Amino acid sequence: MPAINFPPLPDLKLDAQNAKLLKLIIAIDGHSSCGKSTLAKGMAKALHYAYLDTGAMYRAVTLYFLNNGIDYDNPAAVEEALPHIDIHFERIDGQNHTFLNGKDVEREIREMRVSEHVSPVSAISAVRRAMVSQQKALGGRRGIVADGRDIGTVVFPDADLKIFLTADVDVRTSRRHLELAAKGIDADWDEIRQNLEARDHIDSNRADSPLRRADDAVVIDNTLLSEEQQLEKALELVPRIA
Ligand code: C5P
Repeated sequence: MPAINFPPLPDLKLDAQNAKLLKLIIAIDGHSSCGKSTLAKGMAKALHYAYLDTGAMYRAVTLYFLNNGIDYDNPAAVEEALPHIDIHFERIDGQNHTFLNGKDVEREIREMRVSEHVSPVSAISAVRRAMVSQQKALGGRRGIVADGRDIGTVVFPDADLKIFLTADVDVRTSRRHLELAAKGIDADWDEIRQNLEARDHIDSNRADSPLRRADDAVVIDNTLLSEEQQLEKALELVPRIA
């Protein structure tokens, strides 16, 4: 493995009194399971910002459709269902939890059942409109790190920093496999790989807000980077005022 040396980490110890860093909006996009949420959470912690997991919102909508027998190929059924979906986030023991209509669904939304349907659901324009308007409203408070597929292109096109993450698909599969195992979710390696590739394909080729790198996004390939190295590299990109 090649040695990777980074310049020393700038002083990023921030607190409410430290006005040296503006309350920025940081957008992280990229392929499935390439470490976007790990990076976003790490940056949010280092900068004392809020973290917005937009993928969790699409997963929660998908779970609602599955649990309530909503045929998401039927536009009228989708329109009828959307107003009944309330999603919010809570911090529990330092972890982000996603709530769907008042119920903690953090574990359920990560299961393969949801992963298998989330990309077709996310390709539906009515679903995207509903999620994007909530995400924009949350960004109004600034001081936020958001990750997803359309953050730098659609949700926050004026973000102060845009990062596009990518990594080798086998490495992504192994990371996802480990992550699911750590949550007690047993999934087959080949099944995970197929799911990642299928989601990347649908996400990149849908008509509404396809996954693509924003022209002004910085690309980070983290195939050979540890979580710490990736975080260091990203924090060095954080624009600072003198
Ligand atoms: O980030 P995560 O892998 O949990 O996202 C699950 C799915 O949600 C993605 O594969 C994609 O289909 C959809 N998504 C999206 N736009 C976002 C975030 C996620 O379409 N901003």
